[in-house]
Amino acid sequence: MPSCPPPPKFTGRDTFSSRSKKSSFWNWIPFHPFLFAAHTILFLVVHNNVEFWANAAVPMMIAFAVIALELLVFGLVLRDFRKGAVLVSIWTIVFFWSMPLFGMMRETGIVHLGSDVKYVFLIFFPLSAWLVWRTKSSLESLHLPLNTISSTLVLFVLVSGIMPSFGAVGLKDENVVSHSQISMSPDSGTADLPDLYLIVVDGFGGKECLDKVYGYDDEPFYAFLEQQGFQVSRNAFSNYSRTNLSMSSIMNLDYHDKVLSEQIMKKHSEPFDRAVEKKIHDSFVDDFLREKGYQRILITEFVNELEKFRPDTEKTFHFGKSPEFFPLLWNSTLLTTINDNIVDREANRLQTLAVFSALKQTTFLSEITPKYVHTHIVCPHAPFVFNEDGSCPEPYNEKFLSSERKAELYVQQHKFVVRQLEDIIPVLIENSKTDPVIIILSDHSTRWLRGFTGITDFQRDPILDTYQNIIAIRLPGEGHTPLPEHFHNVNLFRYVLNELFGTNYEMLPPRFFRHVKGRVDETTEKVLPVFQDTETLSP
Ligand SMILES: [Zn+2]
Repeated sequence: MPSCPPPPKFTGRDTFSSRSKKSSFWNWIPFHPFLFAAHTILFLVVHNNVEFWANAAVPMMIAFAVIALELLVFGLVLRDFRKGAVLVSIWTIVFFWSMPLFGMMRETGIVHLGSDVKYVFLIFFPLSAWLVWRTKSSLESLHLPLNTISSTLVLFVLVSGIMPSFGAVGLKDENVVSHSQISMSPDSGTADLPDLYLIVVDGFGGKECLDKVYGYDDEPFYAFLEQQGFQVSRNAFSNYSRTNLSMSSIMNLDYHDKVLSEQIMKKHSEPFDRAVEKKIHDSFVDDFLREKGYQRILITEFVNELEKFRPDTEKTFHFGKSPEFFPLLWNSTLLTTINDNIVDREANRLQTLAVFSALKQTTFLSEITPKYVHTHIVCPHAPFVFNEDGSCPEPYNEKFLSSERKAELYVQQHKFVVRQLEDIIPVLIENSKTDPVIIILSDHSTRWLRGFTGITDFQRDPILDTYQNIIAIRLPGEGHTPLPEHFHNVNLFRYVLNELFGTNYEMLPPRFFRHVKGRVDETTEKVLPVFQDTETLSP
């Protein structure tokens, strides 16, 4: 009996076996964890137009080393290295794809959740480990599809990198985009209109906020502004806690409340944030000034806002960050949950300096007249990369800073911005043919020590650190209506247009909003008492 050969189990096995031998290498060896990691890194290289060896080689090697270690550990724990590889691939995909997917879902308006939702993805890790550990299947059949999918993705991204027409998406390192298709010769009758400078200093805290929360007295700057012919509101408030909502409301002379947000979303069939951002540079003020004969110059660090600038802008100086690979990669993975403040400090410094420099240069664009210069400086907003004298502070991790050090970092950068403005404002005034209009404005308070976009603590200090800002307006000529001590952003252009062009826009009563889970949420009831009672810290 033992000499009897076992009967074949089924016919045709030979053919199958020979086919399987040919592809066994591909079926059997789990390349996929490495390929999934390589795909994401190569994708970022191609779509941000960076050089591979200088930027991505080291992160790629680190990723491969971590994956090799994971394969070893899971292989030993599961006592099956190939089953472990399936788990490593699941984790690699979740690690690299969660944040981009979540970002896309937010962009397209599928979800409107806060950033905490990223922690949900972390639950996926133990859950998937438990499932793979418990399953009785060897998961053998998964290696072929996983190898095929991952290698196709890598191949596709390599091809798109080689063919420029495929890879032309993404940021390009161009500092100046110029649109000069508009006739530069001014209409007669507009020549004596004053140039108008709007200088937005992002996150520049208000007077009492700096005094109470940061222990810093900003009065010398206010005195300087007054000496230069500005009216400064010593109790100015932003109506919103967030840049896009605030700027859009200012430029359109109105509030975005819940009703309006629904209307905007319906009209543009876009998520609220995007629709609102569109209204920053496609705004009421823009139309109004254009009708009066103004030509617009835009100086910005914002990539998002730039994408929405009107193509008929005369000149755009754009100093958005050129992509720095490591922060880009870090922020697109789940590592961003550990620290989402990984930034390229040098790029931040350079772009801020470039904006200040471009602002100075606008005075030489004498052929564009009258001009409206819209400048957005993302400073003194974090990250903190300037000391008062312009040098760079030590790198820091926000999570490990004492409140004293936090306050000091903000104050140093604040002083730096003040020094720049003190330098630039006289230049703007001296070099203008007609006495110019200059507006210094912040879109919200510092939001660094106590304040928060989605403010929940409505004590005095958090409210000041969220909403109290700077509004300083310099108008040519005399006999203007005095700027109220208690002034708020939505009325800025109502006041300016009334004074400059004799319009009759009524001043809107103060209302305040925070930004929670992709929506505006009214906080007037809690903020108004602080706005009204804010102590006037007179000079
Ligand atoms: Zn801002």
